Amino acid sequence: MNKGRRNFLKNSGLFTAAGFLPLEFTFLNNFLDVTDFDPETSFLIKNAHIISMDEQVGDLEDASILVMNGGISQIGSNIVPPEGIMVIDGSGAIVMPGLIDCHWHLWTSLLRSMAGYSEGQGYFPMTAAYSKYYTKEDMELAARYAAAEAINSGITCLSDFNHNARKPSFVMASCNALAEAGIRAQVLYGGYRDQPGSEATHFGGIREVLQEIRGNEKYKLLELGLGSRGTGYENLAEDWEKARDLNMGIAIHASSVEAQKGQIQHLADKRLLGKDVNIIHGNAITSSEIQLLKETDTSLTMTPYSEMRIGYGFPPVNRLYSAGVNLAVGVDTTPLSGNADLFSVMKLLLNLANAEAKEEFYMKPSEVIKMATINGAHALGMGHITGSLTPGKRADLIMLRKDDLNFSTGNQPKSLIVEAAQPMNVDLVAVNGKILKKDGRLTNLDSEKLISEAKVAFQRLKRAVANSK
Ligand SMILES: [Zn+2]
Repeated sequence: MNKGRRNFLKNSGLFTAAGFLPLEFTFLNNFLDVTDFDPETSFLIKNAHIISMDEQVGDLEDASILVMNGGISQIGSNIVPPEGIMVIDGSGAIVMPGLIDCHWHLWTSLLRSMAGYSEGQGYFPMTAAYSKYYTKEDMELAARYAAAEAINSGITCLSDFNHNARKPSFVMASCNALAEAGIRAQVLYGGYRDQPGSEATHFGGIREVLQEIRGNEKYKLLELGLGSRGTGYENLAEDWEKARDLNMGIAIHASSVEAQKGQIQHLADKRLLGKDVNIIHGNAITSSEIQLLKETDTSLTMTPYSEMRIGYGFPPVNRLYSAGVNLAVGVDTTPLSGNADLFSVMKLLLNLANAEAKEEFYMKPSEVIKMATINGAHALGMGHITGSLTPGKRADLIMLRKDDLNFSTGNQPKSLIVEAAQPMNVDLVAVNGKILKKDGRLTNLDSEKLISEAKVAFQRLKRAVANSK
């Protein structure tokens, strides 16, 4: 945004008309009166290059962002912060919305890179074998260990598809770990690996977890959704109706491989698609199904590393993108993806898109950044809360310092984010205004302790699986 436009915005009430809170001018007056801000969730970052991912705020060079009581209060130049607020120097750094992971099975995180390379040792049999020996303590540890990796990697919001939901306590384990980690999340109550098709979905358990978390301050950053059974499940439509009655978002793995072709059409035939649905994978999606997603405002999450590693094929990114489907991204599962690096997911998708288009300029960096931020927020039904740096939204943001060997020269911030950035360049992470990583170190979780606990738990699970053979 050029200076002329910035001044214009500063002096106008344009932003109220657009549905969000006013920038600078009006807001300044309101907030100068506020003296009782919470120092834990209020700070100013100054002199940064701000990539807002909000079309009206745009990108601002040498600008500041004021966070007050967990929310984004002002973005712009010449912000006068309240006295006593923490001021962070963002000189030379990039500030952007936190990354949003829309598909991740957190419980599998103890099994990093454990998908084998021979029949019987692959991802599905391996996770099925281990899943039986998880305790609720393992579930909680895995979620906490994954949340730590997420925050460290610049992810401020994620969707945990819990498909080792043997008991309500196995889902509460995720909720507890995520709430204590301070990350924003959708927790999806799923089934479990060896669940018989004849067994009904655990709506009793779902209601139990809902009752525990809704309205409880501790879980204020969490939403419970349904991790749906596959399209072959006979009571699928009834399940979805129940979930919708409970106001829960829904995610489903569908049309992942050629043999599953038509699964999205099946959902459309039953009139199940909609804005509250997140389709996972869709590598074998047909052109007419792509249109159905677009028409029904259904989101699709691509997890290119797990999809490619397991042989589902390439994500059909260009066909989906050109049709205007709301596309989001995810890590899926670290037994296949190895790590939770959404920077590399963005880079891979951009490169796949240009490779397929045989065109250097086909996919713009801003488009893949959207997939990992604002589109993801929409996919999880959280677009009004997070996903962009917009005054009035909650302060879920990250700062990338340009002082590492891989991330220093160059002045095209969006290209740097997609092509050069790695989790190690994430200097600061805030969720709901609370700083969870500062100066490159986690503030809320003890990494060393988590690593040693994860190692111990993994060894115990490994022994249990070995003894069962
Ligand atoms: Zn999955």
